[in-house]
Amino acid sequence: MEVQFSRGIRIEEEYAEEVGDRADELGVQLSVHSPYYTNLGSDDEEVVQNSIDKIVMSGHMGDVMGANVVVAHPGFYTSLDPQETKEKITQNASLTRDFFRDSNYQVDLGLEVMGKKQTFGTLDEVIELCEEIGEGVVPVIDFAHIHARSNGGLREREDFEEIFEKLDSLGLDRYYTYFTGVEYENGNEVSHKPIKKADLDFDILGQMLLESGHDVTVISISPLVEHDAIYMKIRLERMLDDLEREGTFKEVAQQVTGA
Ligand SMILES: [Zn+2]
Repeated sequence: MEVQFSRGIRIEEEYAEEVGDRADELGVQLSVHSPYYTNLGSDDEEVVQNSIDKIVMSGHMGDVMGANVVVAHPGFYTSLDPQETKEKITQNASLTRDFFRDSNYQVDLGLEVMGKKQTFGTLDEVIELCEEIGEGVVPVIDFAHIHARSNGGLREREDFEEIFEKLDSLGLDRYYTYFTGVEYENGNEVSHKPIKKADLDFDILGQMLLESGHDVTVISISPLVEHDAIYMKIRLERMLDDLEREGTFKEVAQQVTGA
């Protein structure tokens, strides 16, 4: 379940603590999304400072709630050229990570793979960013964004596998991901849709995840947040049942044939 500070952080510390306790009781993992209006790569220093403050504040609340990851958008292009923008984002994301570390927050800083062309943050860019900054910063893989940016490129199991092959270089033992249905146009995300109403197929990903053994947290960001979170959970449980049954059949067949 994601706590979304999309339009601002309007929560008291006491309430954050309560949310964390309740999630713990119910066995629900939490993640936090920092406010949308942040840009670590801006040409305006005031915007950068404000962005760092908002992400650090989200980090604080995430830490209080016992969340695993606090997600931020790396930034978008302003008057600076792409290389300068990238350098600024690397520097400021690294600074934000240092704040997390100095404050002893027990939560990772997640940098999201973005879905629009004018934003910094393709999968390759986010991986490179995480490599450069190092510990405490992790990629947050938004499958809908990758699907939108590639004009519907996630169709086969191999398309999903390719993503994890790329991530391999980071040597992480667990991954955070977002899933939702998505509408897109010319390589840009238009809007989120319920999973069953869109062409991004959760079953292909789910099957691949179960068989690959990757440790992956899938966070629902569908317009039907809770409904689709449960939908994905049910689909995974069914697929797992099928896999186990197939495994049993194979064992029985082996015994029968003596193979
Ligand atoms: Zn986001």
